[in-house]
Amino acid sequence: MRLNEYDLNHSYTTTLVSSERITPLGWEAEVRHLVLRLPDTPFDYVEGQSIGVLAPGPHEFGNAHHLRLYSIASPRGGDDGRGDTISICVRRCFSIDDISGERYPGRASNFLCDANPGDPIQITGPYGVQFEVPQNDDANLLMVGAGTGIAPFRAFVKHIYQRHGAWQGKVRLFFGAKSGMELLYMNDFRKDLALYYDQSSFRAFEAISPRPHYDAPPALDRVLLENSAEIWEMLQDSKTFVYVAGLTAAETKFEAAMEEMAGGKEPWLDLKSKLNADGRYAELLYD
Ligand SMILES: Cc1cc2nc3c(=O)[nH]c(=O)nc-3n(C[C@H](O)[C@H](O)[C@H](O)COP(=O)(O)OP(=O)(O)OC[C@H]3O[C@@H](n4cnc5c(N)ncnc54)[C@H](O)[C@@H]3O)c2cc1C
Repeated sequence: MRLNEYDLNHSYTTTLVSSERITPLGWEAEVRHLVLRLPDTPFDYVEGQSIGVLAPGPHEFGNAHHLRLYSIASPRGGDDGRGDTISICVRRCFSIDDISGERYPGRASNFLCDANPGDPIQITGPYGVQFEVPQNDDANLLMVGAGTGIAPFRAFVKHIYQRHGAWQGKVRLFFGAKSGMELLYMNDFRKDLALYYDQSSFRAFEAISPRPHYDAPPALDRVLLENSAEIWEMLQDSKTFVYVAGLTAAETKFEAAMEEMAGGKEPWLDLKSKLNADGRYAELLYD
């Protein structure tokens, strides 16, 4: 769906409660965890959905707002469970002019990363497919993503273990990052996901880029293939649900690994369409 097709008729004024940097200071990538206080108007959301952020103008071409989407990083009910906040995970983005090499700050992400507690932030939504939590706690969950694609998985894992307590099925997270510092929510700054490492059903696998300074993508395919025996066994089980999130580069790596595991593109696409038809496959991807 194109950005200009999103419904902007209903927007809500939230207030920034906190903005915490979750990559080290001095490290080139700045990623922040933002908590927004919702207005009194009902705004119900679930894991896997996104919100629109309307960065205020003036903007080029005279448009009043600059809309960008952000995945919801908190479980329904918010990080504190009180039901009046929503969290997002934002990477400060820049675009580089191919010819001049000049760096231009992305409008929405820089607006969000520069905001201070108490500042108003206009949001729309929520939009998109939810990562439906399977009814039975013996379901297996295979989650694959990279970069800020961790956001919906944070929401999902928190929801599963907070709402359901012990989970019987296998919960496997394969997460790619440029370096250990960018293992968002799993690095030394925010260990949110480490809270669940003692759950016998949960295991997280890290895939770090082999050459971070050359912008080489994380070795997600290698880590998936190293665990192919378990992944393949999970995929044969009708209780397994697959979720892929983040930059499309992560999906490319995922697809390559799955094709290798399945023994070719055709068999993987067959399996994927079966998972899709059963409602056991969900994607949340962006460029
Ligand atoms: C469904 C959906 C969910 C999204 N969820 C998130 C999220 O949870 N967190 C988040 O930070 N962004 C997320 N994005 C991307 C976000 O909407 C914006 O595109 C991004 O913040 C850049 O917007 P901007 O206005 O700051 O910069 P723009 O002026 O639009 O572009 C700046 C540059 O940054 C690049 N870029 C965009 N997003 C990323 C990223 N996440 N990591 C690395 N490079 C990037 C772009 O390719 C572009 O070159 C999501 C996008 C979609 C469609």
